[in-house]
Amino acid sequence: MVTIAGTAPTFSMLLFSTDIDGTIFDGPATAEIFASFWKNLQALPEPPLLAYNSGRSLADIQDLLGNTILPGPDFIIGGVGTEIYDQRNSQLLTDWHEVLSGAWSFEKIDSILRAQIPDIEAQPDECQNAFKCSWFWHDKSNEDIERLRQLIATAGLEAQIVYSSDRDLDLLPLAANKGNALRWLAESQELPLDRVAVAGDSGNDSSMFLVESVYGVVVSNAETSLIEAVAGRNVHLASQACARGVIEGLTRLPEWQHLSPDTHSA
Ligand SMILES: [Mg+2]
Repeated sequence: MVTIAGTAPTFSMLLFSTDIDGTIFDGPATAEIFASFWKNLQALPEPPLLAYNSGRSLADIQDLLGNTILPGPDFIIGGVGTEIYDQRNSQLLTDWHEVLSGAWSFEKIDSILRAQIPDIEAQPDECQNAFKCSWFWHDKSNEDIERLRQLIATAGLEAQIVYSSDRDLDLLPLAANKGNALRWLAESQELPLDRVAVAGDSGNDSSMFLVESVYGVVVSNAETSLIEAVAGRNVHLASQACARGVIEGLTRLPEWQHLSPDTHSA
């Protein structure tokens, strides 16, 4: 697939928020490609900040960073937008949790599901946090999900229900997604959204691309659901996969056009 959408952006990027798996990383080779590209950017007069924005938990992302050559980020957004961490001073940005709270209660949702759904199994503790209640629930229909929705609403609670792979069930606060977390982070750091770029490969990345004014890069191995969701946005649909596609998209930025993607292909 080679599809070029939109025009080349004209801004200097201050913040790059990227998904990890399938976007900049699918093994040691892509980690190396992205790390080498990002290292080159550090020579710029105003190097951009890096935020990893992943469905993985914060702890899992930190483990991954310890075991790969991926560059150390400035920020980590983990657990599908439920945790925001400032890696520079090792601080969880807990003000974000006030935004998430609303009609959300992990404890109440957890006890309702345990009591009322017999064939459900909690995911391991490392997949959960105070704003992400995650379960295994096999082969459920839309009707089953709708009954769950009713159960939550009847208890006076609000939650997004995300069911994927006919197995994984996540309940999250209504405002929790990668895009809302990114918008909040950019505002809290006084970084204008029109100087933010994002990249991703799957449906749960779409909220990042829908943040107003951002420039987005969709890698060529992306799910159709992401490509459909970002139609009409300021997005580059890369002809290359994973880290190479990200570099292809970012080197359309005028200040980086000298960093040719060709120099990063293996
Ligand atoms: Mg991904």
